[in-house]
Amino acid sequence: MSYKIGIIGTGYVGLVSGTSFAASGNEVYCIDIDEDKIAKLRKGISPIFEPGLDYYLKQNIREGRLHFSTILKDAVSECSIIFLCLPTPPNEDGSADLHHVLDTAKEIAEIMLNAESKEKKIVVNKSTVPVGTGEKVQAIFDAILGVGRVVVVSNPEFLREGFAIEDAMKPERVVIGTSDKWAEELMRDLYEPFVRSGNPIIVMDVKSAEVTKYASNAFLATKISFMNDLSLFCEVVGADIEKIRIGMGSDSRIGKRFLFAGIGFGGSCFPKDVRALLHTAEEHNIDLVLPKAAFEVNRKQMQRFVDKIVSRFGRLNNRKFAVWGLAFKPNTDDTREAPAFYVIEKLLLAKARVCVYDPEAIENARLHFGDRISYSSDMYSATKSTDALVIVTEWNVFRNPNFFKLKELLKNPIIFDGRNLFNPEEMKALDFEYYCIGREQIKKG
Ligand code: NAD
Repeated sequence: MSYKIGIIGTGYVGLVSGTSFAASGNEVYCIDIDEDKIAKLRKGISPIFEPGLDYYLKQNIREGRLHFSTILKDAVSECSIIFLCLPTPPNEDGSADLHHVLDTAKEIAEIMLNAESKEKKIVVNKSTVPVGTGEKVQAIFDAILGVGRVVVVSNPEFLREGFAIEDAMKPERVVIGTSDKWAEELMRDLYEPFVRSGNPIIVMDVKSAEVTKYASNAFLATKISFMNDLSLFCEVVGADIEKIRIGMGSDSRIGKRFLFAGIGFGGSCFPKDVRALLHTAEEHNIDLVLPKAAFEVNRKQMQRFVDKIVSRFGRLNNRKFAVWGLAFKPNTDDTREAPAFYVIEKLLLAKARVCVYDPEAIENARLHFGDRISYSSDMYSATKSTDALVIVTEWNVFRNPNFFKLKELLKNPIIFDGRNLFNPEEMKALDFEYYCIGREQIKKG
């Protein structure tokens, strides 16, 4: 059956989810408070870079299934299922800031209170929220509208930026948190087109669904941090983390993914979600040892990368560095908590000059750094007359550079590689100094 769906918050999650629901035949009303974003979207221009999104966006606007507005009432009065895809950024103490979610729930309830229709609705929380938030949101609706008008469901999102359309259209699993049979049936029906190949729709209580999201991110962050922790050990004892990764990953109990050592994880999810999980645990006097360690290893790993640059050059004033990669990972323009930003801020603090290149994230970097750094529109000119190349994001285009051209452009043939893109032996043969993660460092002389 086709539904009328409201999406409140048209960012990475909201826009991708809304577009995917429209692409499976539903009529979708996307709401955002950002007027520029909505104006662009109405013209079919995506405000974010996400492979495949443009096509579905334009197609579904053209076919009349995707609407954009800044007015919440437009979605609330039309739709029987309303998704909250709102930001839950970290407060200073690491807890999740829930004001967008709670305030919007109150606004929706007030719109419903004043509406003629007394239709029962589902409000689905897709934002990543601490355990107990679903109960709080349900309490808001029950207090304003009375019990039974709204069923609050948890439906955590697991999409990966860079593969978001693919993940939304063919999710490995859909988690639905509800104990209400009516809401469960509707949610199953809505998601059925996305799981036709047999991937599961897993229904559980609201609290367990909320924790499932944090547990997944904390576990993935822990996998990465485990390898990063080991990488220092490998450098000291002369082992190669890349070979160890392959050796370990072939064990199906361990799995091949999320074992890449590197500069550390960033992005809008892992750092904030691990901190929020730790904060909620502390509120319940629980010490979550492993997520805490994963977070601490990550912080150290980024600093260790900067330390490599400092120990090679000593003082960094009067030095200039080229940085390749600004997005927190390839195939996105998202720079939230990007390791590149950490590295660049440290270089600037040490009075170095920085010229950057990224295939998609230059504009987001410009919003953050302004004229404190310079920007290049191609990867090679960024390196011209710089003291070294620093690679932070593993975009495919960086994997096979023209090393001879690089040698001509760089003042010194030096590369700091935070993603282990190249083979140390080859770099030695090419006569580069090459500093990487958890493998042999090809040093001067
Ligand atoms: P985002 O910042 O890209 O998008 C949020 C949108 O909400 C913005 O466009 C903002 O303008 C809008 N907004 C803020 N207040 C609003 C209001 N009162 N009414 C309407 N719109 C409002 O955030 P995101 O990355 O899409 O993340 C949303 C949630 O999903 C977060 O809780 C996040 O942790 C979670 N999540 C994100 C990802 C991801 O990969 N980005 C993956 C899974 C889960």
